[in-house]
Amino acid sequence: MNAWMVARWSDDEFAVLLPGLVFPEEAVYMARSIVATVAAPCTGSAAHLRLSAAIGIAVAPSDGDNPATLMRHAAVAEHAGRMSVEHLVRFELSLSQEAEGRLLIEQQLPLALERGEFSVAFQPEVDAASHRIVGLEALARWHHPVLGEVPPVRFIPIAEEIGVIAEIGQFVLRSAVRHAAQWRSDGLGDVRVAVNVSAHQLTDRSLVAVVLECLDETGLPAHLLELEVTESAAMVDAQAAAEVLGELARQGVTISLDDFGTGYSNIGKLHNLAVSTIKIDRSFLLEDEANPAADPGALLHAVVTLGRNLGLRVIAEGVETEEQLNRLQTQGLDAYQGFLFSRPVPAAEILRLLREDRPLGSGSGIQIA
Ligand code: C2E
Ligand code: MG
Ligand code: MG
Repeated sequence: MNAWMVARWSDDEFAVLLPGLVFPEEAVYMARSIVATVAAPCTGSAAHLRLSAAIGIAVAPSDGDNPATLMRHAAVAEHAGRMSVEHLVRFELSLSQEAEGRLLIEQQLPLALERGEFSVAFQPEVDAASHRIVGLEALARWHHPVLGEVPPVRFIPIAEEIGVIAEIGQFVLRSAVRHAAQWRSDGLGDVRVAVNVSAHQLTDRSLVAVVLECLDETGLPAHLLELEVTESAAMVDAQAAAEVLGELARQGVTISLDDFGTGYSNIGKLHNLAVSTIKIDRSFLLEDEANPAADPGALLHAVVTLGRNLGLRVIAEGVETEEQLNRLQTQGLDAYQGFLFSRPVPAAEILRLLREDRPLGSGSGIQIA
C-alpha cells in the first residue's frame, strides 16, 4: 500500500502527498475532508477557536511531471482556493497564466509611478436637465511599455494588496485638483472633480492632510473636490472611515458613495459617512437576464427614492443607451454619467469640451464608439 505523507512546508503551509491514486477525484475528496476537519470548532479551551484551511490540488502527471512543477502548481491553486467557496481548487493552466500575469503586475506596479507610466482620464458627469458638464470623474490610467493599457479593475486591487494604492491615489488626486484649478482659473467655470478613494486610504488619517495640502497649493475651493468611496471600502473600518470623511466634509469636501447598491451597507450608516451624493451602479440600468419579466425600472425607482428621501444628490452611472436614458428621465435624477455622453478622455479633450460648453450625448457630435 502507498503511504500518505504530510510535511510542514513553511510556517502555516503543509504538503500532503497522496501516491497511488486511481482517480484524481480521490484527492478532491481527501481535500474536502481536511478542510472540514480543520473548520470544526475547537472547544475545550477558554477561547472558542475557529480555524480554516485552503487547499490547492495538483495531480501528476497531468498537472506536472516533477516535484517542483507539482508544488508550484499546487501553490497557485491554493491561492485561488482561498477565494473559493469550498476553500479548495484543483490546478488548471488558466490559473497559472492568471498567477503569472498577476506576478508581473505586482513587480511592475511599484516602478510604474517612478517611470511616469500613470496618467489620469476624466469622464464627464452631465446635468440631468441640460446635459451640460457639471462634474468630472478622475480615473487612473496605466500604460505599460510591454503590457500596454492595464485596466484599473486589474491593477487597483493588486495595488491595494501590495500597499502602493496610497501613492497612486495621491498621484490621481494631485493631477485632478491641479487640472480643475487650472480650468477654473482659465475661466471655464466651476466644475467639480471626483477622485476615487480606496479602503486603505480611508483608514489612513494622513489622507486629510494630503487633500487639504492639495487644495491649499492650487487654491481650488474644497466644495469643487468630491471623494468617491464604495460602500464596501467604507465598511472595512467604518469607524475610521467616518472620522476621516467627517473631517474632510467639515472642511467642505463633497463625499459620494460609488457603485451604490452593489454592497451590503447599513443604510443607517450613510449619514455617519458624511455622504451627500450617491452614484447608482450601472447594474441597475441593465435588464435582469435571469428574470426577463421583472420590471427593470422598479429597483432603480426604489434606490432613487431612497436617495431622495435621505436628501442626497443622485447620479446614475454607466448610461450607455438612449433607451436607458429614456427610462431614467422619469426618475428625477440630478446627473448622469456614461458612454452615451462621453467616455473617459484625456485632460486636453476635457479642455476642448469645457470650452465648447454645449450639451453632451446624442446629436452632440461626441464620439460614442
Ligand atoms: P468607478 O469609480 O465606478 O468608475 C466608473 C467606471 O465605469 C470607469 O471604469 C468607467 O470607464 C466605467 N464606465 C463609465 N461609463 C460607462 C458606461 O456607460 N458603460 C460601461 N460599461 N462602463 C462605464 P474604469 O476607468 O475602468 O475604472 C474602473 C474602476 O477602477 C473604477 O470604478 C474605480 O473603482 C477604480 N478606479 C479607477 N481609478 C481609480 C483611482 O484613481 N483610485 C481608486 N482607488 N480606484 C480607481
Ligand atoms: Mg468612481
Ligand atoms: Mg462607480
